[in-house]
Amino acid sequence: MKTKIIVSACLLGENCKYNGGNNKCDDVIALAEKFEIIPVCPECFGGLPIPRVPSEIKDGRVYSKTGEDLTEAFLSGAEQTLYIAKEANAPCAVLKENSPSCGFGKIYDGTFSGNKIDGNGITAQLLYDNEIQIFGESQVKRLINLYE
Ligand code: SF4
Repeated sequence: MKTKIIVSACLLGENCKYNGGNNKCDDVIALAEKFEIIPVCPECFGGLPIPRVPSEIKDGRVYSKTGEDLTEAFLSGAEQTLYIAKEANAPCAVLKENSPSCGFGKIYDGTFSGNKIDGNGITAQLLYDNEIQIFGESQVKRLINLYE
């Protein structure tokens, strides 16, 4: 039986990104040969529409570019993603880098200017706090090596 892993749906080509597009990544899609992929989009789980105004984290809360505080929606999406990960007994997740939900290690700085700072997205942080190992799309080879 293949190990189940959580994957950001936009990396698989789902059009769930804020602008209605996706972040399709062939290396991530190819993980299906080795793992059972469970797609998630925490922002959609949180009830946010597609398309939607982009959001960034500032001082621990999430704001849309138009100034709306969306923290509760992001937290709800994170909780639902954690529930799915636990149910699947997934040891790790491959999440879209830099996103205010899925980013891990680096995120945008909250000024909507393209600057990045050290930090984690809301969902990535919750999964990490619950002992789920996080990989970005640029780290797929490291994940494969771990399970070789
Ligand atoms: Fe992709 Fe995550 Fe944003 Fe959904 S919340 S579009 S999965 S980066």
